Amino acid sequence: MKLNRFYLRMTAILLGLLLTAGIVQVGVTLASYGDFVRESDQRLNRNLAANLAKTFHPFLADSLDQDAIGQVIHDSMAMNPFIEIYVLDEQGQLLAYFADPSKIKRMAVNMGPVRSWLADEGELPLPWLGDDPRSEAGRKPFSAAPISVGGETGYLYVILGGELYDSASAMIRGSYILRTTATTLAVIVICAAIVGVLSFLLLTRRLRRMTDIVRRFRQGDWAQRIQPHAADELGELGAAFDQMADTIVDNVDQLKEVDRQRREMVANISHDLRSPLTSVQGYIETILLHESDLSSEQRRQYLQTVSQSVRFLNRLVNELFELSKLESGQSQPVPEVFSIEELAHDVTAKYRPLAEEKHVTLSASEPQSLRPVRADISMIERTLDNLIENALRFTPAQGRVSIQLHQEPEGDILIDVADTGIGISPEDLPHIFDRFYRVRRHPDGTGLGLAISQRIIEAHERAISVRSQVDQGTVFSFSLPCA
Ligand code: ADP
Repeated sequence: MKLNRFYLRMTAILLGLLLTAGIVQVGVTLASYGDFVRESDQRLNRNLAANLAKTFHPFLADSLDQDAIGQVIHDSMAMNPFIEIYVLDEQGQLLAYFADPSKIKRMAVNMGPVRSWLADEGELPLPWLGDDPRSEAGRKPFSAAPISVGGETGYLYVILGGELYDSASAMIRGSYILRTTATTLAVIVICAAIVGVLSFLLLTRRLRRMTDIVRRFRQGDWAQRIQPHAADELGELGAAFDQMADTIVDNVDQLKEVDRQRREMVANISHDLRSPLTSVQGYIETILLHESDLSSEQRRQYLQTVSQSVRFLNRLVNELFELSKLESGQSQPVPEVFSIEELAHDVTAKYRPLAEEKHVTLSASEPQSLRPVRADISMIERTLDNLIENALRFTPAQGRVSIQLHQEPEGDILIDVADTGIGISPEDLPHIFDRFYRVRRHPDGTGLGLAISQRIIEAHERAISVRSQVDQGTVFSFSLPCA
């Protein structure tokens, strides 16, 4: 079976882990089982050699009667088939035993462990192993007791868990323990497989739902969201996807809006270019065709109209270029420190003749020693020019136009350009900063002046606002940072 499903792979990993753990567990159990049996055997038979010594004493006290002692050893081993009995001299040499001599692999026993055993007061760690004469290097738990052999010191040395015992215990180990652990392991693995498949299936159900939603989103159903989000990793993933989807939808909307604006702008530009161009072409052709019939007064009139149209075209192209540089970030403010009071004074002085011509009072606030500002002076002058030109244009005779300056508590200087003109209706007010938005067309108006002013103030990280009342007047406000 191909594990191409996440939950199947997870189950397989779980089962693999369980099996490995089970096998390690069986290995450890088998290894420690031997030690456990030896330890309990040695603990139970701690005094076995001392007890046997009493039985052996009559046969050894005076002299070593090999036949008699062999018989006693044989009888004792017949009563307890799991022990092997040896009589040792003081150096550990075997004096007597009952066994086929070919089975005895070494004739001496290392006395170190035996002496420690005899001196032990319950501190030795069990199982305590001594040399097994029936193997060349093997060691086994034992019991030992001193015994007199023909007047000399000797030892009764009893190996616990003899050969017979070895095979019996190997049998038990091989059958019983292995069988139980293998059965338990099989049961655990089967249960874990069932539980694992079911629970991973449940867990990955959410993943499958998420995949489904992402697929539908990719196919264009942009309303698809993973909500609700649980408080876990999958929930976080879902929330991240939803955020990403929102951003994508926003970006697409923005792109659509930009595209719509671009088309609108192209339409506006072509429309705004067409009328002056048609007029220029018409008048020039008329002059050329009727050159001799025209009075000098007529010719002059036509040429003036042509000049006005060309001036408008020039202005439109320049303002478009200016706006596009501001919007693309190509035109950036070059800040310098200057007195806004002086600039306001200069701008009002510049427009005073025009104001007088229109019988409008133009003024700037009284000098009040304001702190200098830090901004691009020519850009700010451009903005003030535009606002003052608009104000003068839309303020009837006897009206007032003024530039008012205030120190703001946050450290900025607030600049108001106020007029008592015709005002702007609430319906038009939200749009007047849009490109090409003109409430009332006038021969010089491109509809770009306020859009340029707004981009300039935004490039200074400030905002421009307007408040107006029809037939009462209009106030444009923006602020600039103090130096
Ligand atoms: P334009 O170059 O045509 O004046 P603007 O972007 O400067 O374009 O202004 C947009 C429109 O906002 C103008 O057509 C005008 O109708 C309106 N407007 C601007 N300033 C004033 C004002 N001070 N009072 C009344 N209307 C104004």
